[in-house]
Amino acid sequence: MTDLLFRDDATLDWCEATVVAVTSAGVVLDRTVFYPAGGGQPGDTGTLDDIVVHDTVKGEGGTVLHLCQGALPMEGQTVTATLDWDRRFALMRMHTALHLLSVAIPLPVSGGAIGAEKSRLDFDMPEAPEDRDAIEAALNAMIEADHPVTDEWITDGELAANPGLVKTMSVQPPTGQGRVRLVRIGDIDLQPCGGTHVASTGQIGPVRLGKIEKKGKQNRRVSIHFA
Ligand SMILES: [Zn+2]
Repeated sequence: MTDLLFRDDATLDWCEATVVAVTSAGVVLDRTVFYPAGGGQPGDTGTLDDIVVHDTVKGEGGTVLHLCQGALPMEGQTVTATLDWDRRFALMRMHTALHLLSVAIPLPVSGGAIGAEKSRLDFDMPEAPEDRDAIEAALNAMIEADHPVTDEWITDGELAANPGLVKTMSVQPPTGQGRVRLVRIGDIDLQPCGGTHVASTGQIGPVRLGKIEKKGKQNRRVSIHFA
């Protein structure tokens, strides 16, 4: 298993680590600051010493695979793993903004994708929203309010004992893995999420609502951009 340093501190932009495996699939470290693609958030990019990491994905058994270009490090070697922080921070701002979008549009979410420039959520939304300016204003008001973003872990047992908690969550938590990570934004949102987020919503900065596209009978895709 790789020690996922970003889980406890998403602001770490580098770490020293030991190479534990080098395969055609990728490089495995004992610990990493690189987020592997998942939950709509792309994998991180950066370097292991001077080797370029062009993507990061989940490997088997709780490992993280760093996909490298060109030369590869040696097993047992100590490397400095450094993120492309500008890109990662943009993804953290966008990711947190999507949590807020799901508050501004309180409808079931059927999908989503996070990008450094543009992100989207797909909603179960048969009718187009009447007032898109109001949605954009609500989003920016939540950003300006600078709500703290925190996380907590809850066991399946605690979850089962607190059915009211699940009711307050905008997404149903996955069970069966023993514990679930919850991300709380002030008193406005609580949902299970394994991604990386900014520390408070003010760090997102102003956003604008992009296209609202019809995707099939029931769904609409809502995009946001940095303003
Ligand atoms: Zn999240």
